Amino acid sequence: MADSGTLVVLESEGNGRMCLTLPETLISVVGIEKVVPTWSDLEVFLQLLPRSSTGERMNPYTSTWTGVTPGDGPRDFHLVLLDNGRTDVLADTVGRQALRCIRCSACLNICPVYERTGGHAYGSVYPGPIGAILTPQLRGMSSEVDRALPYASSLCGACYDVCPVAIDIPEVLVHLREQVAEGPGHLGEKAVMAGAEAVLGSARALDAAQRAAGLVGGDLPRHLPGTAGTWTDTRDVPDVPGESFRQWWKQRGRR
Ligand code: SF4
Repeated sequence: MADSGTLVVLESEGNGRMCLTLPETLISVVGIEKVVPTWSDLEVFLQLLPRSSTGERMNPYTSTWTGVTPGDGPRDFHLVLLDNGRTDVLADTVGRQALRCIRCSACLNICPVYERTGGHAYGSVYPGPIGAILTPQLRGMSSEVDRALPYASSLCGACYDVCPVAIDIPEVLVHLREQVAEGPGHLGEKAVMAGAEAVLGSARALDAAQRAAGLVGGDLPRHLPGTAGTWTDTRDVPDVPGESFRQWWKQRGRR
């Protein structure tokens, strides 16, 4: 709390409290987004966290400390307030909502992707849906891993529904994908997207493409060659109808 300098740790097993009381010198490293103004501001988080995390009414172990007390606990106490990219995240009007996270893990438990991958999958320091938007922002999307993280989602929106502090994780994922796309990106994917834009942006080109595809009809191979094969490993290429909807409508729709 900013008004008293008190630190708070919430945990469920008591090992955090042991680590706070045993050392002679206690050094606490705290992200700057975790500072709240007063005790009354803390109250709402003390209710939100256990209910969204473990479904408990109250948190089992809540430790608070303000400096040192002679004869009890550590002799020295140091507080390190950590920025480490957080100010840059704050400057991003869409991405900054990730700083509201209270680490309750509700989004991890509800996520259909994380439910199967678990742990620290995809090389993110913070796991799960919140990790997919927080880690790339803090690290600056400088590595292959950080550029891939915003894509580790089906954008189903379950994480947003369940988040107690209403972080719109799908919105930030799409926002970060835009930033990745503006960079060098994957050349093959960019070429495919440019082709799709040209065809889908012109009624004449779309009509020509549909007529050409209709000639092939159901004779497409079930498994595509090369890189495209990774897509057809788990899916079938659908049959292309013999005529497009526009052709169908022209012949039968205006009766
Ligand atoms: S993003 Fe929301 S649901 Fe996920 S851990 Fe943070 S506060 Fe909890």
